[in-house]
Amino acid sequence: MGPGKRVLVTGGAGFLGSHLCERLLARDCEVLCLDNYFTGRRQNVAHLLGHPRFELMRHDVTFPLYVEVDEIYNLACPASPVHYQFDPVQTTKTSVHGAINMLGLAKRTRAKIFQASTSEVYGDPQIHPQTEDYRGNVNPIGPRACYDEGKRCAETLFFDYHRQHKVRIKVARLFNTYGPRMHPNDGRVVSNFIVQALTGKPITLYGDGTQTRSFCYVDDMMDAFLALMDTPDEFTGPVNLGNPGEFTMRELAETVLKLTGSTSAIEFHPLPADDPMQRCPDITLAKAKLGWQPTIALAQGLERTIAYFRGVL
Ligand code: NAD
Ligand code: UDP
Ligand code: UDP
Repeated sequence: MGPGKRVLVTGGAGFLGSHLCERLLARDCEVLCLDNYFTGRRQNVAHLLGHPRFELMRHDVTFPLYVEVDEIYNLACPASPVHYQFDPVQTTKTSVHGAINMLGLAKRTRAKIFQASTSEVYGDPQIHPQTEDYRGNVNPIGPRACYDEGKRCAETLFFDYHRQHKVRIKVARLFNTYGPRMHPNDGRVVSNFIVQALTGKPITLYGDGTQTRSFCYVDDMMDAFLALMDTPDEFTGPVNLGNPGEFTMRELAETVLKLTGSTSAIEFHPLPADDPMQRCPDITLAKAKLGWQPTIALAQGLERTIAYFRGVL
C-alpha cells in the first residue's frame, strides 16, 4: 500500500472498519467507505466526512458494485452473535454473495483483496491453541452456522478466485477484538460488561463463566491488517490475528468490575447453544510473516475502552 492508493473498505462504518478508514487516510490513501448501516453507524465516521480523500457510500455488498479501486478490505458482515443471528439468511448472503461480488470486483480491477475471516471457522475447537492448519469443529446446522459456515465458504471463494483467476488475496482469521466505537448495544461480551458495570446493572455472565476467549485491542489489530496487506503477493494466509492472552469470562467480568470500580452484581444466565468453550490463537505464523505481535495487554486496552464508554454513556 503506497500513497494515493484507492482503497475500498466494506463495512467501513462499523467498529473495525471505522478504525481502518482512519488508519488508511493517515497513510495517504483515498478511502471509499461502504456500508448498509445494519450494525454500523455514520456517526463512527462522522469525523472523517470533511476529509478530501474520504468518501462514504450506502451500499449492500450482496448487490454488485462497479467502482475502480486498487485495494479492497472486505469487512462487511455483522460480527456480534446477537446481530448475526437476527436475520441468519441475510448473514450467509452477506458473507457469500458479498465475497463473490467483491472478488468479482477484485478480478476485474486487479485489486488486492483482504478478507476479515474469523476464529469461528474453528468452531468449538478441540485443538488448543488454534493453528491455521486446524480444520475446525463447526456445527453446520446450529444457530452460529450462518456466520461460521458463511465465513468458511467465503474463505473457499477467496482461495478459488486466487487459484482460478489469480486474484491476489489476504485472508485474516480475526480472534475477538475490542475497543472504542463498539456499539453500546453490540451484544458482545466486552461492551456488554463495560456498559453494565458503568450503568450499575447486573453483569450478565453466560454459563458458569469458565469458557475462555483471547482479546485483542483494536489498535494492535489495525497494525496487523496493514502489515498483512503489505506482505508479498505469494503470502495469501489464512493467518490468525489476535492476542494470545487467554481469559475466562469470569476473569473478564471481575477485571471489568475492578477497573470501573463498579458494585454491579454478577448474574448467571444460560450458556447459548454451541458457544465455544475455549479460544486462543497460535500467532507463530503472523509473527514470522508480518513481523507483528500485539503490544496492548487486556487491562490496558480495557482502561481505554472504559474511558470511551464513560464518554458516550
Ligand atoms: P461491526 O458489526 O461493527 O461491523 C460490520 C459492518 O458491516 C457494519 O458497519 C455493518 O453495518 C456492515 N454490514 C453488515 N452487512 C452488510 C452488507 N450486507 N453490506 C454492507 N455492509 C454491511 O463488526 P466488527 O467487529 O467491526 O467486524 C468487522 C468484520 O470483522 C466482520 O466481517 C467480522 O466478521 C470480522 N471479525 C470481527 C471480529 C471482532 O472481534 N471484532 C472477530 C472476527 C471477525
Ligand atoms: N461484480 C461486481 N463488480 C465488478 C465485477 C463483478 O460487483 O466490478 C460482481 C458481478 O455481479 C458478478 C460477481 O461479481 O456476479 C462475480 O464476478 P465474476 O466476474 O467472477 O463472475 P461473472 O460475472 O462471470 O458471474
Ligand atoms: N458472554 C457473556 N455475557 C455476555 C455476552 C457474552 O458471558 O453478556 C460470553 C459468551 O457466552 C461467550 C463469550 O462471552 O462465551 C464471548 O461472547 P461474544 O458474544 O463476545 O463473542 P464470541 O466469541 O462468542 O463470538
